[in-house]
Amino acid sequence: MRTHVTVADVLQWIDDLAPFRFAESWDHCGLQVGDPQEKVSGVLVALDPSLSTVQEAAQRQCQVLVVHHPLFFKPLTSIFLDRSPGRIVAEAIRHNVHIISAHTNLDAASCGTNNVLAQAISLHIQGSLENLSTADSDPRYLGLGLYGLLPKTCSALELTQQLAHILSLQTVRLIGHPETLVHKVALCTGSGMSLLGRAKQNGCDAFITGDVKYHDAQSALDHNIVVIDIGHFASEALVVSPLAEALRAAARRHDAAIDIWTSTVESDPFLTVIFDDKRRTCLAGTTEVPGGTPDS
Ligand SMILES: [Zn+2]
Repeated sequence: MRTHVTVADVLQWIDDLAPFRFAESWDHCGLQVGDPQEKVSGVLVALDPSLSTVQEAAQRQCQVLVVHHPLFFKPLTSIFLDRSPGRIVAEAIRHNVHIISAHTNLDAASCGTNNVLAQAISLHIQGSLENLSTADSDPRYLGLGLYGLLPKTCSALELTQQLAHILSLQTVRLIGHPETLVHKVALCTGSGMSLLGRAKQNGCDAFITGDVKYHDAQSALDHNIVVIDIGHFASEALVVSPLAEALRAAARRHDAAIDIWTSTVESDPFLTVIFDDKRRTCLAGTTEVPGGTPDS
């Protein structure tokens, strides 16, 4: 007979993959809403805790929603049920959906967001952009930002094209000259521009991240380093499928009776509207997370 799974078991599987002690001190990972003792027959993996993903979890008969971004960033003094995050908490409780966040612990882990993006561009990793802590002796720990060598030197434009292809993007923002040759490349998924200086210190020709602001873009030009802004959502959406696959492997190891799904309702909140030279709309783009396959 196959083993029954609890919320605490799913938490443990995630801790085995990307230990919660890897998380930044300001971060709030782990069980955010729920009861560790509740039984689980389905898990939905997504990027964000939202009304949509909670409802999708309920509709797929998943009692656990594993998300990257935390539901709470600041301590709460009240929970209003007519607005987020209280509304999401109420919806989760109403549908018996328990929410677990794997945020900076997942960013820093070898199975996490940064390494998934590095592997997607076949980066030969040489090191981390952050000051390594005591966690660095753990083979599951890589660091919050990574740098290394591309398989071969290419132009900044060619690397941008490669990223657009891999991430199914219709637009990518490039800061720097498109013909600049790039070989040593740093990346930080999410909002990584605070690590630009470290990318430069490590001799990188280019830095891939999301959420680049205007003055940070100017600073990149001043420092003569190419920056490729692939967007926060796209930089992290890539991790959803491998995370679900890693949880399926954990479930198989424990002979657990559980289905694990990836969300199909999420998309980049930024809609890119492109106009032709007569200012007629010719394209409105979205990026969606591939998925929707249960455990087989
Ligand atoms: Zn993020």
